[in-house]
Amino acid sequence: MRTPWYDRVRKGGKLTVYGDPLLEKGVWHGILELTLKELNTELTKNKINLQLESSPDAPTVTGGGANVSVKPVDGKYQAKYGDMKKTGELASRRTHGRGLPWASEDKKKGKGSMRMEQFHVLVPARPQHAPTHERGRAPKSATVGAPVLKVILAHELIHACGLDNDEHTDDDIFVGVPDIVRGENPDDDRFKVLHQSKVIITPPLILSQTVAKLKEIW
Ligand SMILES: [Zn+2]
Repeated sequence: MRTPWYDRVRKGGKLTVYGDPLLEKGVWHGILELTLKELNTELTKNKINLQLESSPDAPTVTGGGANVSVKPVDGKYQAKYGDMKKTGELASRRTHGRGLPWASEDKKKGKGSMRMEQFHVLVPARPQHAPTHERGRAPKSATVGAPVLKVILAHELIHACGLDNDEHTDDDIFVGVPDIVRGENPDDDRFKVLHQSKVIITPPLILSQTVAKLKEIW
């Protein structure tokens, strides 16, 4: 399912993104800015009418502030928008985030037609590689490096653009289960996809399937 943002935001071609201060204190330090920059390059290159802009204003429960927030989570979380509440749990070591969409029915467009009003991205506080039993040289650290952190975040930001889980693709950063190639050092970690029988390594990339889907709602 696709949930387009409400008209004013969609026509403006801009989503504002607020990074929680906690994000800058741990392994995520600096990653949001880098990810926004790389995603914007991809959006421009693919002629999608959207740019992501960082904002100092946290989204509020009444709908003010930034459109999107990004926050690290270590275990249980609770989020609110209007009179709605979502609770859950996200293990701090996993390598996949979670997106919380807040949408309402668009009465002008008829019953069941939803429009996005706010979006919260939750990222695991300290993503780690799963223990490996491979032979050969053991990597020095279980901590994932910046290239993988960027993919975890970019994936959730694409959800924030309005694409739900059933829109996952099989050949770019929007795959349901990203294939991480572990490097000897965290910054040698990479994310790998198979596109038209060719192996492609990140930086964050958006390929044809995701481009087409995003163009329909932006
Ligand atoms: Zn996803």
